[in-house]
Amino acid sequence: MKVFVINMHGEPLMPCSPRKARILLKEKRAKVVQREPFTIQLLYGSSGYKQDITIGIDTGHDEVGVSVTTETKELFSSVFKMRNDISKKMTTRRMYRRNKRSRLRYRKPRFDNRAASTRKGRLAPSVEWKVETHKRIISFYQNRLPKCKVILETGIFDMQKMQNPEIKNEMYQKGIQYGYANTKAYVLTRDRHTCQAGKSGCTKRLEVHHIKFKSQGGSDNPKNLITLCSKHHKELHEGKLILNIKKHKSLRSATTMNIIRKRLLGYYPNAIETFGYVTKQNRQNLGLEKSHSNDAFVIAGGNNQQRAETMDYKFKQANNRAIGIHRKGYAPTARKVRYLIQSGDIIKYEGRTYTSKGNKNKGKSILLEIEGKKKTVNSKKVELIYNRKNIQCIYA
Ligand SMILES: [Zn+2]
Ligand SMILES: [Zn+2]
Repeated sequence: MKVFVINMHGEPLMPCSPRKARILLKEKRAKVVQREPFTIQLLYGSSGYKQDITIGIDTGHDEVGVSVTTETKELFSSVFKMRNDISKKMTTRRMYRRNKRSRLRYRKPRFDNRAASTRKGRLAPSVEWKVETHKRIISFYQNRLPKCKVILETGIFDMQKMQNPEIKNEMYQKGIQYGYANTKAYVLTRDRHTCQAGKSGCTKRLEVHHIKFKSQGGSDNPKNLITLCSKHHKELHEGKLILNIKKHKSLRSATTMNIIRKRLLGYYPNAIETFGYVTKQNRQNLGLEKSHSNDAFVIAGGNNQQRAETMDYKFKQANNRAIGIHRKGYAPTARKVRYLIQSGDIIKYEGRTYTSKGNKNKGKSILLEIEGKKKTVNSKKVELIYNRKNIQCIYA
């Protein structure tokens, strides 16, 4: 784990080790400007040496992996859990609003209140949030680190490359047979990662089979390829099974990730794009397990660098205003009293770090979960480390 450093003028420098940060702070040559993630500002002029930094981002629907890597070290490794409650929350809000309006005696006619929702290029709120959050994550690292290269893994396979194999970019010039790996990834996705033999008793391992055998001049075109499990693949080649191929479905193109991809590439035109099949190949070459942090490390061009400890973050809704506001005739439920320690804040108790589970007794006691058991402790014995905004770091 590293500490972010900014210079006297607020410009980012190379991150330093926690040890060095402690020394600088002790000698009063730096001050703390942010707790989470920990950032210090130097109080003396420093030109600072700079290394090439690469940020690898494993974009995703549920989790986003980030790795910040130099040639010798992985500086940061983080996994962000995305919110998946937005559309449910919107439904709840809609319900409250409808209910409230039905009780209005008169409501001024509003004719153009659909304008915003039919605007061209509008995204569903849950997708919009995901796009914005990806941007927030990327911009955060860009603002806190000196000039760095951004590599985004935006999908499993490269559709454009398959349609036009002439396309070349930085990621493809690594000498492995990526072309076929790309097609294979496409075929597996198209067949929804299920054996297409239409039989029961499939094995877990999936293989891609040439319908017209390669030895008979069959091509690597996706139309000639089909997903089979290893058992049925073997049986087919032994002549014990005859394939009954239904017409191939075409791939649904307007997936959430596709929309996120388009937006992100539009927003970061200098970012380099890579794909899951390349990452998978490189990860296997390094003998790493599949995880978001490992994927991000590989995307950032990692190979034998010293690894950083992975930090887990999650995003949380700050306040459920909808319920508080849309209650006609009732007082809002939104909390008015702001206790010093709110639910979700990170605190220190008896030398260990916990996440507060809430207040009791008007803020005099704090609810904690210690080794799976709920415990109420005196708030005077608790030290606040980090006030939750809406990014939360998950500790024990
Ligand atoms: Zn099968
Ligand atoms: Zn085969």
